Amino acid sequence: MSEHVLVINAGSSSLKYSLIDAGSGKAAGSGLVERIGEAEGRHLHRGPDGETSTDGKIDTHEDALRAALDAFETHGPSLDAVEVAAVGHRVVHGGSRFADPVLIDDELIDAVTALVPLAPLHNPANLEGMRVARRLFPELPQVAVFDTAFHQTLEPAAYTYAVPLAWRDDHDIRRYGFHGTSHAFVSAESARFLGRDPAGLNVIVLHLGNGCSAAAIRGGVSVDTSMGMTPLEGLVMGSRSGDLDPAIHAHLVRELGWTVEEVDHALNFDSGLKGLAGGNDFRELSTRVEAGDPVAQLAFDVYCHRIKKYVGAYYAVLGTVDAIVFTAGVGQNGADVRAASLGGLERLGIRIDAQRNDAAADGSRLVSADDSPVAVLVIPTNEEWQIAREALAVVGGS
Ligand code: AMP
Repeated sequence: MSEHVLVINAGSSSLKYSLIDAGSGKAAGSGLVERIGEAEGRHLHRGPDGETSTDGKIDTHEDALRAALDAFETHGPSLDAVEVAAVGHRVVHGGSRFADPVLIDDELIDAVTALVPLAPLHNPANLEGMRVARRLFPELPQVAVFDTAFHQTLEPAAYTYAVPLAWRDDHDIRRYGFHGTSHAFVSAESARFLGRDPAGLNVIVLHLGNGCSAAAIRGGVSVDTSMGMTPLEGLVMGSRSGDLDPAIHAHLVRELGWTVEEVDHALNFDSGLKGLAGGNDFRELSTRVEAGDPVAQLAFDVYCHRIKKYVGAYYAVLGTVDAIVFTAGVGQNGADVRAASLGGLERLGIRIDAQRNDAAADGSRLVSADDSPVAVLVIPTNEEWQIAREALAVVGGS
């Protein structure tokens, strides 16, 4: 029987879990506990017999994980029957210290705690997930897989901000990049799809989900990426602004009397597509664009223009590009975004095939023309599988 890993992604008020068959990447069971600590929580569990949903108050992350274990027991698959080899945790920020997944022990917990100032919105919840899982599964090895790790290969020229040395030396201010598990998975899958050796392939990956990031990957190694010290930098996202003039921050503080927390919150949660058009769901945005809504059209144009700028920038960074790969919710489904972002780049050897691009399909596929020197691909991401494989490699599984 192939080995299974329980993958846990703990957010501030949610806990996502998947029991992954590390051989096939298939989820034997999975679920999401939402609104932890709120008046009414919700637990969705998917097992062999389909989906079950339970509403009710869920006070803590420990209660959430206990609810998940109960659901595995009641609705399957039984965790005893599948023999879980490890627990893999998604951890957002590993700073400069972690370029690889790491077995979780007290020292690792302390190290991730020390990184909280770099990721105050994410690392505390990830830590809580690790603590709770260690209490509930004391017998299982647990592994932290960092979202930043894949980008630790960036050269200083790519990761250094042009700010005073003391900021960089004393406060770890530099670019780290995120979505690393997705970029690693998708770039490796694109090599497999094209039947090429990853070591000889230059790829631009566009991860367009609720969070969005681009990465320039040379021979399987990340050389640049759009997110920075935090996930706020880069592309336009669901509710994050992406790139903007840092002076806007000071302007808001001076002109509106906002606190630093208010500015930070607004740029992370009220900006991006939500700020531009009032909502962060791309499906709704596309429907509005089709209906001729000019507000939605501007949001769409800003979103795609930013992607195109990064494609051009990363083309220059890489020198030659073999493939441009779209992934995540919008990247996999948004034919309109793919067409608009890469339109007009024929002189760069990028030619989308409209019929292939528009065809409704799941799975990995080519959407460029046969005579396009640069292959344009859609590759579904599978961060859980990547985490499972990396966790298993750490604990010595196959
Ligand atoms: P993710 O973070 O990868 O789950 O992606 C979430 C984003 O993908 C949301 O903006 C969704 O609206 C968008 N999305 C999901 N399905 C579709 C679809 N069929 N067409 C366009 N966007 C989609």
